[in-house]
Amino acid sequence: MSGRETAARDLVLVLNSGSSSLKYQLVSMATGGRPAAGIVGRIGEAEGRLAHSGPSGPVVRVERFPDHGAALRAVGEVLDAEGLGLGAPGLTAIGHRVVHGGDRTEPALVDDALLAEIERLVPLAPLHNPANLTGIRTARALRPDLPQAAVFDTAFHATMPEAAARYALDTATADAYRIRRYGFHGTSHAYVSRETAALLGRAPAEVNVVVLHLGNGASASAVAGGRCVDTSMGFTPLEGLVMGTRSGDLDPAIVPYLIREAGMGPDEVDELLNRRSGLAGLCGDNDMREISRRVADGDVRATLAFDVYVHRLRKYVGAYCAVLGRVDAVVFTAGVGENSAAVRAAALHGLDGFGIAVDPALNGAEGHGARLISPAGSRVAVAVVPTDEEREIARQTYQLVTGKGGTTSPGEE
Ligand code: AMP
Repeated sequence: MSGRETAARDLVLVLNSGSSSLKYQLVSMATGGRPAAGIVGRIGEAEGRLAHSGPSGPVVRVERFPDHGAALRAVGEVLDAEGLGLGAPGLTAIGHRVVHGGDRTEPALVDDALLAEIERLVPLAPLHNPANLTGIRTARALRPDLPQAAVFDTAFHATMPEAAARYALDTATADAYRIRRYGFHGTSHAYVSRETAALLGRAPAEVNVVVLHLGNGASASAVAGGRCVDTSMGFTPLEGLVMGTRSGDLDPAIVPYLIREAGMGPDEVDELLNRRSGLAGLCGDNDMREISRRVADGDVRATLAFDVYVHRLRKYVGAYCAVLGRVDAVVFTAGVGENSAAVRAAALHGLDGFGIAVDPALNGAEGHGARLISPAGSRVAVAVVPTDEEREIARQTYQLVTGKGGTTSPGEE
């Protein structure tokens, strides 16, 4: 890390405001470097914690941060001490992660009308959009003159064809309640699909990619020539793949059945499906590292959880091969996708007939950057590409504010 980026106006501050946390990263669009980053956790609780890392090394502050305003002011102070604060001459813009952007396909500059629109979308993302709004309002109050952009998790998927975006529901009901497939993790899918094209030495417009974003939340997408044509998350981030604590796909009739037979209320069903299902529901653990350890020890429940997880994944890979017609690459990203060779091998096992295979040595080798793990000469490339949502938010923000691209590839940290 270095502070030299302050000289030019090329820094973007990326803010990701959760309900009780605020993550931030300062990204240099000239070098691709990240001069500073950190997180404020337990906002609103008796004892919050700010963990910062910057040019002068790590800083930790343990104190009460009553709200996001206090948290962002504290971030401003630690950045100020590095000459990188909210008033730093090099700061061009602030980019905010916003989970739900409705049918917006592009990032947008923040103004009063946009804030009202994000507010109107709160019923569709009740846990996320309010926190995102708080982050934007706080940053605006601190630097009203600085351009700010909202980069939406849903935007990359908003161009999906109607056939993929529509549920086969009564149209009047679906339209009245804005029920459609929105998709999430879009910033990651956009970034990873583009980086995959770069890894293959081809233009994004030339390649068809299946992206498997496997973190605590997990989603797959089918990307044709740089454009998303299908994705596994839908109206909410509950649909699709098996996740850490979320069920993913299930028969919707289970919901009224539980209401009638188990006497559950809507909030209990919601809690069951979002917090007590997925890997955790199947075996009691939601961390793939622990599950893999248990599988190695012959644990039956962990083995079943692993098998359900990779079976669902393989099903989506097959489905997206059909959706795309021709697939150039299958790519793994996020915590599980980047780190679990066992999941990658098991998910793609038996897909040789589709031209998809994993080279055991390449898959098992230690590696951090974007890399191929398919045997040389494979019809379909299989790759691991680390995701970087902050870099993508910074890139989109910078482009929106300046009209310039900046560097898109990971630079030195
Ligand atoms: P993310 O949401 O992308 O930060 O991913 C978090 C998840 O990645 C954790 O819950 C773990 O299950 C998984 N993970 C992280 N490191 C590893 C690893 N070395 N092997 C398997 N899974 C991992």
